Amino acid sequence: MEFNLQKIDGEARAGSIKLAHGEVLTPIFMPVGTQASVKALDFKDLLELDCPIVLANTYHLYLRPSDEVVAKLGGLHNFSKFPRNFLTDSGGFQAFSLGGNVKVQEEGIVFKSHIDGSKHFFTPKKVLDIEYNLNSDIMMILDDLVGLPASKERIKESINRTSLWAKEAIEYHTFKKEQFKNEGRELSNNIFAINQGGTDREFREMSARDLTSMGEFDGYAIGGLAVGEPNELMYETLSFTVPLLPKNKPRYLMGVGTPRDIIEAIYRGVDMFDCVMPTRNARNGTIFTHFGKLSIKSSRFKLDDNPLDSKCSCYTCQNFSRAYLHHLFRAGEMSYFRLSSIHNLAFYLKLVRDAREAILKGEFRRLYQEICEIYN
Ligand SMILES: [Zn+2]
Repeated sequence: MEFNLQKIDGEARAGSIKLAHGEVLTPIFMPVGTQASVKALDFKDLLELDCPIVLANTYHLYLRPSDEVVAKLGGLHNFSKFPRNFLTDSGGFQAFSLGGNVKVQEEGIVFKSHIDGSKHFFTPKKVLDIEYNLNSDIMMILDDLVGLPASKERIKESINRTSLWAKEAIEYHTFKKEQFKNEGRELSNNIFAINQGGTDREFREMSARDLTSMGEFDGYAIGGLAVGEPNELMYETLSFTVPLLPKNKPRYLMGVGTPRDIIEAIYRGVDMFDCVMPTRNARNGTIFTHFGKLSIKSSRFKLDDNPLDSKCSCYTCQNFSRAYLHHLFRAGEMSYFRLSSIHNLAFYLKLVRDAREAILKGEFRRLYQEICEIYN
């Protein structure tokens, strides 16, 4: 993988990541495709949106249809027919969000399948083996994530465990790379480490020190944010955490967030994002526009012949009115989910593209202020 930093404006960065399935220009937003599918869409829609990378879920795909099945069918790309890149998360977040069905131990995470109750054990190596099978372009390594607020002891434990697991992961990945080399092949999968430490500067420093001392990861993520803390505290945490990460590697803020969160994070030097918000909110009737959010269920759209967003050039806005989307939503029509998801993703992808353009021109501050005013 190759990462080139093209321009820095303040702390905001524009760059390019070269991966096995095409180039990703940053800042970038990655739609969430948990089951190797972005809900309500297929990959023709994503290509139309010019989406270079999608996030898929290691835990879910391991349980169903299983990574072995995906491997037999040619990995995620051939299985789903999305020819561009996949990033897969590690299962750490699922361990956190599935609560009672999970036990975190020194060596890994024991969990009970939410599908059939069967018991499974994720170790750092096991997670990578699953991700090699999926053939993901960017593999997140196993981490121990805690919800906030949490005790200092628990956060410290999470850092130590995450560091221990990161070390196991990078050693195993280095070994794999060598193995491939000896066979005259090249391993095209890349690994990202995950910085933990809640909202405490000292802890984030400790985590960054651990991770950067154990060798070179291809990129660094910031985990454990947007898990219950106030927004301002998240922004403040980013302000002191981002500079702790290597400058010459992509920085990825996991699971965040609103348009405001994204622009605030870009402002502080983050390059990559993912979040269920654009697609989930679309399905629930919340539409993101250049003029703020709107709720399509509102009866004020009953006779509104305008597109969802007059500044948007997506398929939905080019062809359909607010009145029609309002009607589809009210009638519970399937097509509503697709059309609204296309629009919200188009909005998020344009937001990061606009940010990139502005950074390249040295005008990011102006865009930042504009978004902050609309999404305050
Ligand atoms: Zn649109």
